[in-house]
Amino acid sequence: MIESFIGLEIHIQLLTKTKVFCNCKNEFSHIPNSHVCPVCMGYPGVLPVLNEEAVRKAYIVCRAMNCHLNEKAVFDRKNYFYPDMPKNYQISQFNSPFGVKGLIEMDGMPRVRIHDAHLRT
Ligand SMILES: [Zn+2]
Repeated sequence: MIESFIGLEIHIQLLTKTKVFCNCKNEFSHIPNSHVCPVCMGYPGVLPVLNEEAVRKAYIVCRAMNCHLNEKAVFDRKNYFYPDMPKNYQISQFNSPFGVKGLIEMDGMPRVRIHDAHLRT
């Protein structure tokens, strides 16, 4: 007998007024680069400031998926080049995300286990 395990990486965009790590508007614009600042662009010497609204909404998502909520969450800088990300790093949560070991159950559907839920740019 063969048993299949399927893993999915699913991204959602939180409806926050500003971006996760700066005060730039979090909305699409038809004018390229109209909602950017030195933090978004990854200029040398800038430091990100975590958006409290994003954290609160991320924890709401974690609770909706019945995740265990970590009291301490840590952000990591993941360095790599990606063509549409000239700053060459992403801020993510690898070792200590907001939520882990979640579970989604719906009538008539297979159980969906959630490995983790984290914020990243
Ligand atoms: Zn910005």
